[in-house]
Amino acid sequence: MNRCDFVNLTMDKAYYLEGLPVLLKSHPLSKSLRLRVDLQKKTPILTVPANCTPREIEKFLMGAVPWFRKQIAKEPKSESISNSGALSLPDSISFLGDPYRIVHKPALKKIEIHPNTQEIVIGRKQCNPQDLIKTHLIRRAFPYFENTSQNYANALNVKYAGIQLKDYRSRWGVCHRDKRLTYSWRLAMAPLEVLHYVCAHEISHLLHFNHSPDFWDVVASLMPDYKKQRLWLKNNGKALFEIF
Ligand SMILES: [Zn+2]
Repeated sequence: MNRCDFVNLTMDKAYYLEGLPVLLKSHPLSKSLRLRVDLQKKTPILTVPANCTPREIEKFLMGAVPWFRKQIAKEPKSESISNSGALSLPDSISFLGDPYRIVHKPALKKIEIHPNTQEIVIGRKQCNPQDLIKTHLIRRAFPYFENTSQNYANALNVKYAGIQLKDYRSRWGVCHRDKRLTYSWRLAMAPLEVLHYVCAHEISHLLHFNHSPDFWDVVASLMPDYKKQRLWLKNNGKALFEIF
């Protein structure tokens, strides 16, 4: 499970904390009520386990008022804009192995990616440039995941059920039992050959749902130098999680 498995929950009754509407979420693994606060949006977010009664929610929220008051009094934490108004972003980000310089243009309203000059141009006032950059990288990288997976699937004469990109914390790809493939979007910041390797790996699982020698033979048939890409991930993969 990861945070993508949270779903919004609608209940007959609306709940409020200090006059602010509480956003209810459910998660199949949650066993207890858990409250957090989105300070940017000043929104209380409550994770509700299955079979929780309205009475339990009310009681929990009443008990949480002092904690919530303290939280809401805090300044909204901004990861993107410092006191001086300067954006705290890295100087450059790698996209499929190519470095893109991050350029600030205060007058610009939206984010732009210029492949010719290898620049990501963002306006100074954008409240969450990290999220914007991430969204753009995902959008631009998706066709690479799609085309690569399709090519390898054709080579092995197998079919997959669909592709999704997720923000996995500890894995690069998953081939699900129902033949869906999910990849870590962070591979968009790795060299293209590394992205190819992860696609080859997951597609090979459609023939062998294990890591047996036969499985690795299939991977090698798609990508003879796969060990080199695997080593790149071992040595550099951690850094891909430190950027956003
Ligand atoms: Zn595997």
